[in-house]
Amino acid sequence: MANSAQALNIKDLLDRSTEYFDSKGIESPRLNAEWLLAHTLGKKRIELYLQFDRLLTKSETDAYRSLIRERVKNKPLQYIIGETDFMGIKIEVDENVLIPRPETEQLVELALERLKTHNGRAIKILDVGTGSGNIAIALAKFLPAVTITAIEISEKAIAVATRNAEQNEVADRINFIIHDIKSDEFTHTGFDMIISNPPYISLETMSSLSPDVREWEPETALTDFSDGLDMISEVIKLSMGRLNENGIILLEIGGNRQSEPLKKMLSKAGYSNIKIESDYNSHARFASGVFETHKN
Ligand code: GLN
Repeated sequence: MANSAQALNIKDLLDRSTEYFDSKGIESPRLNAEWLLAHTLGKKRIELYLQFDRLLTKSETDAYRSLIRERVKNKPLQYIIGETDFMGIKIEVDENVLIPRPETEQLVELALERLKTHNGRAIKILDVGTGSGNIAIALAKFLPAVTITAIEISEKAIAVATRNAEQNEVADRINFIIHDIKSDEFTHTGFDMIISNPPYISLETMSSLSPDVREWEPETALTDFSDGLDMISEVIKLSMGRLNENGIILLEIGGNRQSEPLKKMLSKAGYSNIKIESDYNSHARFASGVFETHKN
């Protein structure tokens, strides 16, 4: 964006920064410009349109420019703004946590659907790899009788998740635990659902991700540094013997290639009623099974 000594109004500033983002290959340049300016001014995006002629002060313009500089370094909009929306819930995010995705909203919707039969009965859920806490917090919000144990290897992520739970007033029903699934002992049991969005991207696929994701989001939340099935299998291993009768395991997975391996893994672990369901882009995205004790 060309530097200019004279004061600009909202419209001109948006036009210029949109052009600049476009020239730098930022997707949805106009939206990015609007979000960042709205954030700078502490306004809603729509409010910008109502004040197109308003001149910006030098300090407003400077603040906006510094956000623009961050965005052209591919820093995701959500990290710059510091929050995102997950199922209508405000979730604080920073570089220590994955930015919640729409697919994961679908995962939570599936969970809610499956738990309908519990009709408000007190139930226990385990969320493995909670990240920002998005899944646990959404479940706690939508299911008033639920208590959740949420585990996560990253101490920094747990700090974000804890703040999110407090902000959303569900901290009293979520027990966050720092836990390394590969080496720490886990003693909690008796869950009605075990849910997880584990790092399922293979190391090989990492290089094809967009720079926003590759350069900014936490690697350990994205990939298992292997074939994409390693952490999924750890979650399945952890789940064994921890579900109540008719308890459900529900996992987000990495697409059609993982469909057959997942069916085998879940069946080998003793689950029945195994289902692979697709996201809105027709990618196999959700794997689930039911624990029926009489089968074992
Ligand atoms: N549970 C978080 C989410 O669904 C984080 C998942 C992860 O870090 N892999 O977005």
